[in-house]
Amino acid sequence: MEISFAEKRALVTGAGKGIGRATALALARCGAKVTALTRTQADLNSLVQECASITPVCVDLADWGATEAALQEVGPIDLLVNNAACANLQPFLDVTPDQFEQSFNVNVKAVLHVSQARRSGGSIVNVSSQASQCALRDHAVYCATKAALDMLTKVMALELGPHQIRVNSVNPTVVMTEMGRLGWSDPEKAKTMTSRIPLGRFAEVEDVVNSILFLLSDKSNMTNGVTLPVDGGFLAC
Ligand code: NDP
Repeated sequence: MEISFAEKRALVTGAGKGIGRATALALARCGAKVTALTRTQADLNSLVQECASITPVCVDLADWGATEAALQEVGPIDLLVNNAACANLQPFLDVTPDQFEQSFNVNVKAVLHVSQARRSGGSIVNVSSQASQCALRDHAVYCATKAALDMLTKVMALELGPHQIRVNSVNPTVVMTEMGRLGWSDPEKAKTMTSRIPLGRFAEVEDVVNSILFLLSDKSNMTNGVTLPVDGGFLAC
């Protein structure tokens, strides 16, 4: 299936590493004019070295005011990938107010904020997780942010649909990015997860990127408000 994003303007958050970085590069390869937003300048430098057409924006999405100013510089966009997130794992009884606030600020509030900057037709993909729909040990706050994100996706689909803006999410299983390695590097722990995935493996970055591209593209023109598992069947069982 050929997907072209020629003439489209795209914004990807959390584009310095992992899934966001691969998505920004894939969008650029498909012809989009890509703005890559993240908070570590060194990652943006190496990204622009890899793909000179990408416009870098360095801002911490936890900072509402700084994000507002940065978005004004970006201008109108057609395609938005709300990918940035943090995963502060800790046992439920140890969760602190700071960790809770930081996670909800980045994983939920910033998605609402960045998406409000959109005004014309197009497509938004929020990067959620299987953790939005299944309880995982030490993931209380992360699971709660992703569950909130799934519902935000649905209400955005409802309210932005009349503006011809589609809003969907992808909900991956574990992917061995920097974030994935933090939680799942221990082979014994990894086995407890892969044994519950019918396909018997974690997702590759590419698996997630391909689903994001599909939901951004006009190949999914009538798909609005879905939370698409990219999980090898984990959530089906
Ligand atoms: P990575 O940690 O590899 O990359 C996350 C990127 O987001 C980094 O570039 C990071 O920058 C950036 N980022 C984080 N916080 C902020 C912030 N406050 N402001 C701006 N940029 C920020 O994560 P993944 O690629 O693995 O995750 C991408 C998405 O996929 C996330 O939404 C995650 O929840 C989701 N996901 C990941 C899974 C996994 O197993 N990896 C499984 C399911 C869902 P910096 O490095 O400078 O902090």
